[in-house]
Amino acid sequence: MPIIGAHVDSSGGLHLAYERAKAMGAEAIQAHPTPPGFWGSPKLDETRISTFKEAAAKFGRPPFYFHAVYLINLAGDDPTMRSRSESTLTGYLRAADELGVNGVIFHTGSHKGAGFEARLPSILEHIRKVLERAEPKTARLLIENNAGLGGCVGARFEEIARMLDGLKDPRVGVCFDTCHAFASGYDERTPADVSRTIDELDRVIGLKNVEVIHSNDSVTGLGSNRDRHANIGDGQIGAEGFKALLHEPRLAKLPFILEVPGAGNGPDAEQVAVLRGLATG
Ligand SMILES: [Zn+2]
Ligand SMILES: [Zn+2]
Repeated sequence: MPIIGAHVDSSGGLHLAYERAKAMGAEAIQAHPTPPGFWGSPKLDETRISTFKEAAAKFGRPPFYFHAVYLINLAGDDPTMRSRSESTLTGYLRAADELGVNGVIFHTGSHKGAGFEARLPSILEHIRKVLERAEPKTARLLIENNAGLGGCVGARFEEIARMLDGLKDPRVGVCFDTCHAFASGYDERTPADVSRTIDELDRVIGLKNVEVIHSNDSVTGLGSNRDRHANIGDGQIGAEGFKALLHEPRLAKLPFILEVPGAGNGPDAEQVAVLRGLATG
């Protein structure tokens, strides 16, 4: 059975995410260590590191991921924006590694019409630099698939595969978002659809490269290219689709992390229970 997790509020201290996750029944955690709408990387000192590590030990070291700030764009043609993105991602990866966090999930960004192939060499160069500057020992950089609006890179599995092939670096992996995939045209509504989509994910990207699942239903339809998360079972993927995803043997060992609206404040105990119910039912 997959590990059921959630995006958790970490305001007031990153270590607080552990007890908040436990309170909602989540066994894997994602957090924004800095406000996602602003530039910035986690600021660490010895006290913060030890407080976080103590909490990790106390709560049994559940899988823990950072989601990088939303402003990151490694794919654009503005060099200032790209170097800011590179530095921010470097700070995130370095902090994740120091804290023993499993990885940093990020969106590659938009080529803004220039085309994926044209921007690919520059994207790869920046990711290589991030790894070279952060020198992570255990934390990984995880590329998230995208819903595909406005020239955003990584909506098609092929684009993510081209990035992985260009890097050939075990420190880089993939976060698969069920809502983004659906919005990009990968159907997940029935067991047969899920099976076909996971076949394609495996054939093109390779399941060995997928480390974590973002488990979100989609407000908008198949191929809509919109990024609007719905609560599990309330969206266009639906409960049958999620049940199939959760029972897919090839995903059985992965954390399924909710990034759903809940009652308005994000994932909560109820959404965790819904997902767990579909996984066990
Ligand atoms: Zn996501
Ligand atoms: Zn999204």
